[in-house]
Amino acid sequence: MTARILVVDDIEANVRLLEAKLTAEYYDVISASDGPTALAMAAADQPDIVLLDVMMPGMDGFEVCRRLKEDPLTRHIPVVLVTALDGRSDRIAGLDAGADEFLNKPIDDVMLFSRVRSLTRLKTVIDELRQREASGRRMGVIAGAASRLAGAGGRIVICDDNSRQAQRIASELAIEHRPVIELDPEKAHLSARGPIDLLIINANAKSFDGLRLAAQIRSDEATRHVPILAVIDPDDRVRMVKALEIGVNDVLPRPIDPQELSARVRTQIKRKRYTDFLRKNLDHSLELAVTDQLTGLHNRRYMVGQLGALVARATRGGDPVGALLIDIDHFKKINDNFGHDVGDEVLREFAVRLASNVRAIDLPCRYGGEEFVVIMPDTPLAAGERIAERIRLHVAGSPFRVDGGKELLTVTISIGVAATLGEHDTPEALLKRADSAVYEAKAAGRNKVISKAA
Ligand code: GH3
Ligand code: MG
Ligand code: MG
Repeated sequence: MTARILVVDDIEANVRLLEAKLTAEYYDVISASDGPTALAMAAADQPDIVLLDVMMPGMDGFEVCRRLKEDPLTRHIPVVLVTALDGRSDRIAGLDAGADEFLNKPIDDVMLFSRVRSLTRLKTVIDELRQREASGRRMGVIAGAASRLAGAGGRIVICDDNSRQAQRIASELAIEHRPVIELDPEKAHLSARGPIDLLIINANAKSFDGLRLAAQIRSDEATRHVPILAVIDPDDRVRMVKALEIGVNDVLPRPIDPQELSARVRTQIKRKRYTDFLRKNLDHSLELAVTDQLTGLHNRRYMVGQLGALVARATRGGDPVGALLIDIDHFKKINDNFGHDVGDEVLREFAVRLASNVRAIDLPCRYGGEEFVVIMPDTPLAAGERIAERIRLHVAGSPFRVDGGKELLTVTISIGVAATLGEHDTPEALLKRADSAVYEAKAAGRNKVISKAA
């Protein structure tokens, strides 16, 4: 999964180093060398993550972080503060400023990428929720309500077989929350299905495998949204990285610092309430409004929104965006010969074949009727043509089994391919080129891929 990362550091060499590392992993990097510029870029460019140096002249990283978290335009963007090694007081000040994560200098690659990946996952969830919400309500309403969400009074389950450590955590948290201790991981899992705000797991427990429990919580439909804080021995780096890979939301190093504990717990609970709030406020008709009911693919409206953002990025010098417009050949005949229901089955089966032939970051959508569009980030024309050809063969190459398996239908498609051209391109022009390419493919006998370079 790719993401756009804003790197903020007053030292040019630090920016270049992070840029090189992140770009090598296909992240899209933008940078700023001071606080005010960073704030302006965060609001205008809407990065997915901000990597923020603490020590900067003028406005320091804490202040930048605080302002990012106050502004409704940027408060949802995860902020990673880059602090000095052993910067315990920096971490606590950072948590108070609303930072989501920390990295110590010098930055360790493994930690960097696991943090970035886990925050990208979180950001994807929040974006999806915000986007659906935004189509129905003004964001101001949400921002106002969200800022009133408290980080106190949380229902917390502590799963730890080290009773002294568990007691220490519980008595610290009892100042502002309602913690309970659970020695048995199965019981902890059961209580996570109830209304809890946070699960704290000892990842170095002796009598059970804490990471296994974390993985189970993540894969259980009833508990997948429960935030998990793992208590880990900081020298056990393998487990630390593994924990973040599994989807643990945060890790707390041992020995436990009470202030850091309460600050991290508050952050997790706030975030949980924010996402709960967004989820609850989802009007289900809005969810329906972005998904095509027959195929389960995204619909045209959703696609148009996404395409706008991607093309805007491409025209500002970002990666090219490819688009496929796909039209099923003689689809009317399928309806006429076999009935409308069989036509629907063909559309569903086609959607499955389409979705399984594109990458996870591509966006296959039902454009309307028997027309589909695939939006492909970072895809120049030639790559688009290859993908289109693969899809064409995958459809024409094996017949569709419909009507309870009674009928085998050979289905073919015509595909028009286009890619963004440069700074003056628009989403409409891109789709128009793809559309005229489909028209040519039809005229040339159908079951063909045609691309339009300009
Ligand atoms: P061509 O090869 O030129 O694309 O011919 P075609 O028959 O595929 O194209 P045309 O646009 O003439 O017909 C498309 C048909 O698709 C007409 C319409 O009734 C049918 N259709 C549109 N939406 C649906 C749907 O949701 N389900 C079914 N079963 N049919 C649909
Ligand atoms: Mg058509
Ligand atoms: Mg057609």
